[in-house]
Amino acid sequence: MPSTAFVRAEAIEKTYSRTRDAEIAAVALSGASFEIVENESISILGRSGSGKSTLLNLLAGLDRPTQGRLDVGSYELSACGKTQLDQYRREMVGVVFQQFRLVAHKSAEQNVALPLMFAGVGLPERRRRVSECLELLGLSDRAKHRPAELSGGEQQRVAVARAIVNTPKLLLADEPTGNLDSQNAQHVMELLQQARAASNATLVLVTHDAELAERYTDRTLVMSDGRVEGEVQA
Ligand code: ADP
Ligand code: MG
Repeated sequence: MPSTAFVRAEAIEKTYSRTRDAEIAAVALSGASFEIVENESISILGRSGSGKSTLLNLLAGLDRPTQGRLDVGSYELSACGKTQLDQYRREMVGVVFQQFRLVAHKSAEQNVALPLMFAGVGLPERRRRVSECLELLGLSDRAKHRPAELSGGEQQRVAVARAIVNTPKLLLADEPTGNLDSQNAQHVMELLQQARAASNATLVLVTHDAELAERYTDRTLVMSDGRVEGEVQA
């Protein structure tokens, strides 16, 4: 892998053996290729169904491509077994999911602490980092609340806190502002960019909002039908 690329995808394909509602195969990625350099922030733009979330899941180490090669840092993800993928996620990745995926019976601070627990960070250090992150996101007075007791915007900020608490090298966000009004959306984007700068991370933002992409990231990859069809420089 050349020294400049931090993420490198070579003709990656992902086929699901069945679609969400029928017993026929669904091709979600059909030969996507691209490179991202370290500390870059990029957007992945595309219509619904173009393969954005599938690609993000592969970058997150939650799934493997059916074909092609995907490298992130020193990890060849397309060749990693489950244990290595687990390690990759703990060490390298922070994800803000499209529907937040907060744990319903846990408080905001317990949700944010999860990646640190998986990484084996001790209690005093965990407490310190969780409260630092909650404060950064303006959630200190919401620490003890469960997701159901928080507004949509607050839940989204908890999801961002959980994604950045372990200073990931790769920060992934799937439509992180999809449910927010424009002021909260700007706030979340600024926080993601701050977090990226603070830990020298690489940011991949999935969005269908071209304006947001242009405003907050260095470069935009445009997806269509499971491929990267073009690129827009900010
Ligand atoms: P986007 O995020 O751009 O809307 P997705 O990656 O979610 O696109 O979906 C791309 C295609 O793959 C769609 O046709 C979708 O129905 C299909 N797909 C996504 N996830 C699954 C899954 N877990 N099982 C079956 N098909 C899926
Ligand atoms: Mg999606």
